[in-house]
Amino acid sequence: MLDIQKIRADFPILSEKVNGKPLIYFDNGATSQKPQVVIDAEAKYYQEINANIHRGVHTLSQLATDAYEISRVKLQHHINAKFSHEVLFTSGTTHGINLVANGFASILKPGDEILVSSLEHHSNIVPWQMLCEKTGAVLKVIPINEEGELIISEYESLLSEKTKIVTVNHISNALGVINPVKEMIAKAHAVGAAVLIDGAQAVPHLKPDVQDLDCDFYAFSGHKMCGPTGTGILYGKEEWLNKLPPYQGGGEMIKEVTFEKTTYADLPHKFEAGTPNIAGGIVLGTAVDYLNEVGFGNIQLQEKKLLEHATKRLLEIEGLRIYGNAKNKASVVSFNIDGIHPYDIGSIVDKLGIAVRTGHHCAQPIMNFFCIPGTIRASFSFYNTKEEIDAMVEAVKKAKIMLS
Ligand SMILES: *Cc1c(COP(=O)(O)O)cnc(C)c1O
Repeated sequence: MLDIQKIRADFPILSEKVNGKPLIYFDNGATSQKPQVVIDAEAKYYQEINANIHRGVHTLSQLATDAYEISRVKLQHHINAKFSHEVLFTSGTTHGINLVANGFASILKPGDEILVSSLEHHSNIVPWQMLCEKTGAVLKVIPINEEGELIISEYESLLSEKTKIVTVNHISNALGVINPVKEMIAKAHAVGAAVLIDGAQAVPHLKPDVQDLDCDFYAFSGHKMCGPTGTGILYGKEEWLNKLPPYQGGGEMIKEVTFEKTTYADLPHKFEAGTPNIAGGIVLGTAVDYLNEVGFGNIQLQEKKLLEHATKRLLEIEGLRIYGNAKNKASVVSFNIDGIHPYDIGSIVDKLGIAVRTGHHCAQPIMNFFCIPGTIRASFSFYNTKEEIDAMVEAVKKAKIMLS
């Protein structure tokens, strides 16, 4: 069992006030808060070992390079990648997806098909649309049912030998639905398609095993898993990363440069042009250590309790509808109240110190499916409590009375 008060003490921002009220932070789906160890590690890097990596023979450069590469190996073990050179540092999920989509421009032919799901974040839709424009490939969309679950029989009938890549999130940011990605990957492989999993919402809640999933790519951001902003990981199977061309040209990604011809560096450096977010990459490793110390089993238990409590309490409010009632769901509740705009509720609860997200959550196609402008989304982390949920429910009730 987690000692929640002890955990909360790890996060200095949780004792701050917002609008004169103690902060209740339920916007974890947008970004998580950071524990003191992460904040300290960032400062320690700049105070003690700041230097550019992979470049100098001097001691500091060696120390920074070692710390960066140790973090890469930590992330390799965390996601169970076979090799550390399959683990690329990126600036986040968006960067990772664009890197892959850009690489596929050299592989796709007109008429080839890309499958995305209806549950995707814009950052897992737009890069593929851009790729279609560039190559003449066609984007196909896996539909969802009323519960917000992907319809697997429809997915099966969309798959064919024309399908070159399937891209789907592990957990939906808008609804919290957990997708059956392992099963979907096997079905895609059966027709010879590659699979990218957008793990941005999964990594705060679970430890993905990329070899067990057998995905070809797995992208995620550091900032949603207690790490710094501007950090992320793209996992890619070695054979795919060798096949794809580099995304950006510059320093660090080359073997040899002449004006006639440049040869590229080996993995992972081929995809890591320029000076990266060195401090961020190192500290992402600290964040992963922190989460593993808390333990994903404990995290899941606590978040399941919070989800059940929030669902039950919110449904006490008349006229409140929850979107996404999938059997497999992460600790996200997306809801509306009849006849009230989500923005108005969000603004009132904010005055009471409660941070929820309102709007389309970068997933407009889902909102269109439910014919709504947006939702109020409360996304919980292991450091949240039932008492905070009760306070939110009271605030939403108050807002409902004020607005109706
Ligand atoms: C947040 C999020 C992204 C984008 O992540 P960035 O950190 O903004 O690059 C992509 N997909 C999902 C499912 C997300 O939740």
